[in-house]
This record gives sequence, structure tokens and C-alpha cells, in this order.
Amino acid sequence: MIVVTKHTASEQEILSLVEELKSSYPVEVQRITGSGCTVLGFIGDTSSIDMMLIENDSRVERVMRVTEPFKKANRLFHPDNSVIEVGGRKIGGKDITIIAGPCSVESEEQIVGIAESVKASGATFLRGGAYKPRTSPYAFQGLEQDGLELLKIAREKTGLPIVTEIMDPRTIESFIEDVDIIQIGARNMQNFSMLKELGRTRKPILLKRGLSSTIEEWIMAAEYIMAGGNEQVILCERGIRTFENYTRNTLDLSAICAVKKMSHLPVIVDPSHATGLKFMVEPMCMAAIAAGADGVIIEVHNNPEKALCDGAQSLTPQAFDKVINKMRKYAEIEGRQISEV
Ligand code: PEP
Ligand code: MN
Repeated sequence: MIVVTKHTASEQEILSLVEELKSSYPVEVQRITGSGCTVLGFIGDTSSIDMMLIENDSRVERVMRVTEPFKKANRLFHPDNSVIEVGGRKIGGKDITIIAGPCSVESEEQIVGIAESVKASGATFLRGGAYKPRTSPYAFQGLEQDGLELLKIAREKTGLPIVTEIMDPRTIESFIEDVDIIQIGARNMQNFSMLKELGRTRKPILLKRGLSSTIEEWIMAAEYIMAGGNEQVILCERGIRTFENYTRNTLDLSAICAVKKMSHLPVIVDPSHATGLKFMVEPMCMAAIAAGADGVIIEVHNNPEKALCDGAQSLTPQAFDKVINKMRKYAEIEGRQISEV
């Protein structure tokens, strides 16, 4: 971090500023004295410094960061890829993880049937929404607690660990008890009180990128969870809002490359919500592997035309099977492998 002092700051003011900065933060301060202004360079861990606080100081002209504001998620301090283990499965590393299932849990028959077929095709996690974040309050809101119970039945019958979205911090206890990976949806990516609560747990978290979030904001959301002591965070690129409206969102494939460079956390791609169109799911899965993703989360429904949520982007179990077979070949080209149990 670099602090530029005001050209009007006196020598005495600069000296006292240096002393204050040194005593407030765990850093060394190096000084370069110019003709108009003085530049102070911070050496050490600046991740916990609030830039705005320094910028507001009457002796300071400008503050600039030269390193990222996140530490625990930063690859700089953790050069190796993080591998997160859930129910004997590894997320990250050489493995490409396949998470699949319906947008929302609708009935026991539906969720168990889909779980059995995605498992047969090679998925190692079951997804399914019990609490659904719908744009309209009149749309199907999910089966809520009953949906969680049905997911547990599907897990019991297939052995697939379950991934499902949390919407309300008041349900954290039941999610800790019942769910294998807790999903934070795009709409809650910056729900900081929820992130802090989940930071206190030791549950793996699938953190979706916010609808209009920058890559740095997304990693900072992961940092919130990690700062609380829960380092088991899996990032999920699910498309962002752009001016394009042919697709539901725009899949930011380059974000995968960026996040992989900036952070050691695993990154999963959601081609279903990113495109909103089933015919794009297969090519975007291949693109995700090419970009270096650690897995995909795909919506699969036994009868997409009758799905209560997101039918247009849901694959039939047969189409899903085809995608997975193709991904197996692609993964091999990249020196990766589809995760197995
Ligand atoms: C979902 O996974 O069903 C979902 C609602 O995703 P997102 O938060 O990415 O919109
Ligand atoms: Mn959905």
C-alpha cells in the first residue's frame, strides 16, 4: 500500500503521520521524499488496513493498494491449490467434480429418481433447492424444510452428499445438521452477516458469484467466511449481468482464469444459470474445463417441461449422461479426471 501525502503537509505532520501509521498497523513504513509530496510505502501485511480511514486523514492526498485486500483466499500466501474433502470426495486438485440435480426439490419420487440417474452417469454430489430465491413472491418458493427432508432421503438412498442453498441465517443449525455443502446463492453473496455466521461453522460452502459482482468483491465475500475460521470455500461462477439478453446471464469464463491466478480456492462453473438455455450447457461445460475449472453444477430434471423452476435450462437425465461422457474425454486432454468416489 502506498500513501501520498498532501503537498501542503508540513515535515512535522508527515513525521507524526508515519509514527501513527507504524503504531496502528503491523507494517514498516518506508519514506520517499519528493519535491512536491512525500510517498510512504507500507511493507508487511496490509490486508486488514481500512484504506478509507487513511484516505480521510487531512495530511493524506491519496492511498493506493499494490496488493489485493484479501489474505486467506490469496494464492500469494497459499501457493498450492486447496482441495476440499466432503464425504470422501475431493473438490479441487486433479479432479473435476460433477454436481447435478433439479433446480428445486418437488417430491420424493422426483428427487430420488433424479439422484439415481445422475449418480449412474457419474455425478458425485446431488443439488436441489429447498428454499428458492424467486424474483416473484407468487412463484414457487420451494418445499423448504420438507424439501430438506426429501434431500436427506435421496442421500440415504444413493449415498450422494447434498448441496442446497441457504436463504435465512435462522436455518443455519438445520443446514449444519442436514446438508453436506451449504450453497450461498448469487443474491446473498454480499449478505455479510450470513457470511460471518457461516464463517463460524466448519461446513464447506459453495459461494456463488453475485449477479453484478466484480471478481474482487466475490473473493472478498470468500474472505469474510475464511476470516471467521472456515477455510472450506468453493467458488462458483454462475454468470453475471451484462447488456446481453439472449442468454439469462453472461458466463464469465475469463473469471475462472483470473480467480485461479488470484486465489487457491476451487472454482466450479454453473452453465445452467449462466446461460439459461439447455443447448448451451454442454459446450459451456467443455469451456469450463478448458478455462481450468474444478467442476460443474448442472440442473437436471426428469421432466424439464413440467419443472416448477428453471425448466428451460434443465437437462434430461439422458442429455446429462451425454454431457458427462464428453466431459470425461475433455478432462483427459487437460490432464484432469472426472471425480469418482
Ligand atoms: C440455484 O442454484 O438454483 C440458484 C438460484 O442459483 P443462483 O444463486 O446462481 O441464481
Ligand atoms: Mn435454478
